[in-house]
Amino acid sequence: MISPEKKMDLLVSLCKRRGFIYPDSEIYGGFANAFDYGPYGVELKNNIRDAWWDMFVRGRGDVIGLDAPIIQNPKMWEASGHLQNFSDPLVDCKRCKRRFRADHLLEAKQAEPGYDKEKPLEIADIKCPECGGELTDIRNFNLLFKTFIGVTEDVSNVAYLRGETAGGMFVAWKNIRDSVRNKLPFGVAQVGKAFRNEITPGNFIFRTREFEQMEIEYFVKPAEAPQAFELWLEGMKKWLSDVLHIKDENLNFHEIPDEERAFYSARTIDVEYRYPFGLKELYGLANRTDYDLGRHQEYSKEDLRWLDPETGEKILPYVIEPSWGLSRTVLVTLLEHLDIDEADTAEGGDKEPRMVLRLPPRLAPVKAAFLPLQKKDELTTIAQELAQSLRSEGINVEYDESGSIGKRYRRQDEVGTPWCFTVDFESLEDKKVTVRDRDAMTQERIAIAEVAGWIKDRLK
Ligand code: ATP
Repeated sequence: MISPEKKMDLLVSLCKRRGFIYPDSEIYGGFANAFDYGPYGVELKNNIRDAWWDMFVRGRGDVIGLDAPIIQNPKMWEASGHLQNFSDPLVDCKRCKRRFRADHLLEAKQAEPGYDKEKPLEIADIKCPECGGELTDIRNFNLLFKTFIGVTEDVSNVAYLRGETAGGMFVAWKNIRDSVRNKLPFGVAQVGKAFRNEITPGNFIFRTREFEQMEIEYFVKPAEAPQAFELWLEGMKKWLSDVLHIKDENLNFHEIPDEERAFYSARTIDVEYRYPFGLKELYGLANRTDYDLGRHQEYSKEDLRWLDPETGEKILPYVIEPSWGLSRTVLVTLLEHLDIDEADTAEGGDKEPRMVLRLPPRLAPVKAAFLPLQKKDELTTIAQELAQSLRSEGINVEYDESGSIGKRYRRQDEVGTPWCFTVDFESLEDKKVTVRDRDAMTQERIAIAEVAGWIKDRLK
């Protein structure tokens, strides 16, 4: 059995070794908690993003897309409450100087066995989890990154990198309402970078200061908000099971109780995943009422209400906000499908971990690999031509002729390629190739002329 810590270490090293995720700026000594998505990582991330867009935007008639800037008019962050409230409670240990999020320390204490729910816990009751030292009082630390527009760095030029993609949808609501949609309900979707000056980034790409989100603001008549919430919960569950293939036992849908919810939220569910480092948030779903549009209406002095053609009444719609972290989805997809077992080493010494990424084919960075059994022209030509014919149809495949066939299979297993096609001398006679299935480990012979159709059928 591989321990959770070991699993995380193996994943991080696999990601670097195989070109999924590298520590950023490594030649300059690195840059803490910043990562590059390498060739396979960027394919995986884009495949997840595209599957999400297909399911929730193109696959439905009631959601449309938006792409807003990262730096927008700073007034919007005042209106949204981010300048005042988008902060995390920070404490320092007076002895070892380590820094923590007070809410995380409280949560950890409350999860301990024997915790008495009746006795409210305060940070003053807690000691440093690392050294037992005394903690400072809480300071609130704003997470928005500040920058300056133009040549002078004075207050009138201050702007912010967006802390979430959601804001862009509220600010564009009036233009969308007036140009393309005037019937409720409808949703606006956006995928893009968000920035937070996190106090305690870490756990690989789980919490970084720059990350990607996929968010939808779904505008509804207030009376229809509770039902829309349920439908989006179903949608999020379907995404997790049908697209990411996440097992139920690794998920937890945490209903946030009244006293812990943001004051404007009528209902919030945190979707949590069992990471090797504990049960923690993956996604969020909230009924944000008319808070956001109300605040933007107040600060912009524009009428953001919607005219109900049936009643002639003007109302501010409610908003259901399902929010997905794209970077966190990459982490969860890798963790969920990384299969590790022990195999004999080639040298016959100690056992070594053998890793297979059992990614759903649709998400796999490489769909198929074409491998000539030997580096002989008559075999390499067939394999190369097959690879090129799939590439020209927009399917990402690889051609590999280096090393033993066993080593080439192992390499493809580690990057999650579902099918390997081997061209051998028999192929010259029977015009067939052998396809090896990554998970079933079956080998089947199929006609060269049918390879492209065979792959496309399975990607549907
Ligand atoms: P947390 O409690 O973990 O700080 P949050 O509740 O502040 O998260 P939201 O503001 O609801 O998170 O953000 C929506 C989603 O964006 C999260 O569910 C998560 O998937 C993702 N996300 C938020 N912060 C980060 C981060 N620093 N790094 C990577 N993904 C993040």
